[in-house]
Amino acid sequence: MPETSTPHQTAETKKRDRGLLRIDTDECKGCGLCLEACPPKVIHLSERLNHYGYRTAVYDGAGCTGCGICFMVCPEPGAITVFRAVAEDNGHLPASNSAPVPALKGAAHA
Ligand code: SF4
Ligand code: SF4
Repeated sequence: MPETSTPHQTAETKKRDRGLLRIDTDECKGCGLCLEACPPKVIHLSERLNHYGYRTAVYDGAGCTGCGICFMVCPEPGAITVFRAVAEDNGHLPASNSAPVPALKGAAHA
């Protein structure tokens, strides 16, 4: 079972964030491309090594806009999944990202 980073969001950021990032640390090679490319800079490298010996990317847990740029630049299929909040019928974002819709995920690389 791959280890996946778990975001820690406050109630306030859940209301505002338009996206959510999930990183499969078994697939990440720690190249750092997603860190460089992320506009709001909400990804960092872990201090821990995965079982291949790489420091892996970790989502800060808040501030993702759902732009998908990290997904586009990542060379490792399956390492990144981006979820986007979907607007409700009234055009507002839902109050919680608890049931986000996967917008961009590694399978698209295959
Ligand atoms: S989807 Fe965009 S804002 Fe969110 S972590 Fe990736 S690059 Fe950053
Ligand atoms: S671009 Fe992909 S492989 Fe490179 S650090 Fe980010 S998630 Fe890991």
